[in-house]
Amino acid sequence: MTREEAIHKITEEYQNIQTREINRLRARENEAVKIDPEIGRLLSLRASLPMKSMRLAMEDKAHAQEIAQTMRETGLRINAEIRSRLVSASLPEDYLKLHYECPVCRDTGYTDGVPQKMCQCFTKRIRVLTREDEGLEALKKQNFSTYDENRIPDAPVTPGGATQREITGRIRELCEEYADQFPNTFKPNLMLLGEAGLGKSFFLSAICERVESRGFEATLINAYKLLEIMRERHFHIEGGEGDFERLLSCPLLLIDDLGCEPMLRNITQEYLFILINDRMTKGLHTVIATNLTPPAIKERYGERIMSRLCDKTVSDSVRLVGKDLRRI
Ligand SMILES: [Zn+2]
Repeated sequence: MTREEAIHKITEEYQNIQTREINRLRARENEAVKIDPEIGRLLSLRASLPMKSMRLAMEDKAHAQEIAQTMRETGLRINAEIRSRLVSASLPEDYLKLHYECPVCRDTGYTDGVPQKMCQCFTKRIRVLTREDEGLEALKKQNFSTYDENRIPDAPVTPGGATQREITGRIRELCEEYADQFPNTFKPNLMLLGEAGLGKSFFLSAICERVESRGFEATLINAYKLLEIMRERHFHIEGGEGDFERLLSCPLLLIDDLGCEPMLRNITQEYLFILINDRMTKGLHTVIATNLTPPAIKERYGERIMSRLCDKTVSDSVRLVGKDLRRI
């Protein structure tokens, strides 16, 4: 699920919660009125106050403030009377208060204030929904301890006679060492090259899992999702700016499938450059998996991005070769 889809879905959920709670409140009101009809009279009196207040203020504009104040006081007196009647009826004092699942945003998803901000309950729910779909939980099972070399063909794949299993095994060691030494890796960046199905995503997940298990913060993201965040940043879509800032500053960023995302004018190249350049300037660690070759990277993203990604002073790159493991 994309972030936008999640926001749409959650907004609906919150509207349903609000409707449900209003219906529940109406049911409690009916219950209370059955026990004490005077409560019903007080409730309609209270409900008529805002209109009455407005009408009086229009008729007598000079005293609008006093009228508003009187109405507020009347409202408070009515509330007190309702509460004491509820208690006499052996009901809880707050029986006729609207309930909220989140008192902070009152189930609107947004906190008061200008500019409005997404409530934490809302952003948390977005994370759950967008992650569920990416199957990140399934990815977490991909770690160095579930690496099974027997699944990898042991036939020579290079002119020198090295087998796919040997080459993949060496890359596995390099990735594990990178994860174990983070943040004191030999070089801050690592590029995993090679065609689809050779295990790049597996190694990315495994590095992420190991680094997190060592107590460091790591963010694994695929290029589609990355582009979505860059697009939100570009168009100043609510929440998108914070997401992009987090990618700029997280200690380890792992980007999967770079090159599979669509090219959006003024966005893909521009923000990818900002991201990579900014992280390199700060000395932050980035691991990228791509099935593009360096010349293809240059053709797709331009010289600036290629030269940074393939800068041997800060970046190690390894290439997986052999048969697509998903087809064996
Ligand atoms: Zn909330």
